[in-house]
Amino acid sequence: MSHKKPRVLLIRPKYYSLVANLEPLGLEYLAGLARDLKIPCWIHDEFQFPWTLRFYRLCRIIKEGRFDFIGFNANANTVDYINKRAKQLKAIFPDITIMVGGPEAELNYSEFFTDDVDLVYHDNGLATLKEMWRYGFTPDRLKDLTGICYKENGRWITKEKGQPVCGFINKPDRSAFYRGLKKNYIFMKGKYALSKASFSCPYNCLFCYCTKMNSGEYTERNIMEVVDEVEEIHHDKIWFVDDTFFFDKARVRDFCNEIIKRGIKKTFMAYARADFLAANPDILPLAYKAGFRDILVGLEAISDETLDEYNKQTSKNDNIMAIKNLHDNNLVCNGLFVINYTATREDFHKLMKFIKDNNLLWVIFGIFTPYKGTDAYDEYKDKVKNFKSWRLDGTHITLKPTNMSSFEYMFRYYWIHVLTYPKIMVRTFFGTAYDTKRRGWF
Ligand code: SF4
Repeated sequence: MSHKKPRVLLIRPKYYSLVANLEPLGLEYLAGLARDLKIPCWIHDEFQFPWTLRFYRLCRIIKEGRFDFIGFNANANTVDYINKRAKQLKAIFPDITIMVGGPEAELNYSEFFTDDVDLVYHDNGLATLKEMWRYGFTPDRLKDLTGICYKENGRWITKEKGQPVCGFINKPDRSAFYRGLKKNYIFMKGKYALSKASFSCPYNCLFCYCTKMNSGEYTERNIMEVVDEVEEIHHDKIWFVDDTFFFDKARVRDFCNEIIKRGIKKTFMAYARADFLAANPDILPLAYKAGFRDILVGLEAISDETLDEYNKQTSKNDNIMAIKNLHDNNLVCNGLFVINYTATREDFHKLMKFIKDNNLLWVIFGIFTPYKGTDAYDEYKDKVKNFKSWRLDGTHITLKPTNMSSFEYMFRYYWIHVLTYPKIMVRTFFGTAYDTKRRGWF
């Protein structure tokens, strides 16, 4: 039986972010699949538009494009927004099919079990979506597929996830990136295209959401395929959003050598763990030569006790050595810290001293948040407060600080930004923000 091709609108809900406006890579993979299947598809990236008239704009796009399949990309902080929008849209367009996918759907699919959502996509990879778009999404079709939740006679049915994936079944359609390039930015760093060369993470930090993806199994894409992709992107700055790109040294070496061999002149940003950087300084000159400039390191904490509490499997000493090895090789260490809810005044002071002593310029601070689906949530779910979805972005208190009032904690949290960010701006202005040997403000 033939089935009518859907007309697909993919939506990335907007949320407050001062630090970045990024390419909607996840949705671009869906758009690439639609392109291959010759299904009309459009990405509506709300980050490209103002906050005003959001719903009006959305309705107009649906009407004009005659879209009948709406896909929302969900993060932890957009759950309530998506459920609200699904209700509003169904009231106006009762015949559309609404699907929710993305990281939050992958980990916590039942958050979207409402009257207005029709499908929740939690599978690893897009093979199930391909089947649905090709053959339809009636319950008798869906019953043989993996990683999908749907309703039958008003009752939600959950199909188990399929196997973890180690690659993509199609290339992304990056038109949304090129179209949105004008507004694309990372704070003080410029415009970046994204690429993903692996899935999940081999470690298991207490607060980490990413390691639970892909059924918790770390897998890697063929690295030559990744080089091909990098070469094809019409942009010179690429951010590997892998949870830890620097994991298998031989693979990193192959990547760098191939980039150099092909004469690809681009700059790269990627995540690496402190223990890897501390133990493998010999790979860093090659990484620099291949074009790596920014390394994001989850330093998380500056004491062994807190690192153990986070199950980070690194030490304070690893952190210090990682920063030193990066700086010695002219690679910028972007230090990511997670401020614990137990932080004392002294901890805030010590953190600032650590940053100064280790000459860290680029820093990012998050507040310890027990996201649903993480090990931290299991541990802290009875203690969370104000656990509204829009607050789940790592910049809000969800566990009452134990050593000061919430007001003081937030004040200190903002204050460490005041103490660090102006220097990043001044150094960027003077063109010295990537001089890793330099100290001081200019
Ligand atoms: S925080 Fe980083 S190293 Fe730890 S599990 Fe998550 S992605 Fe892996």
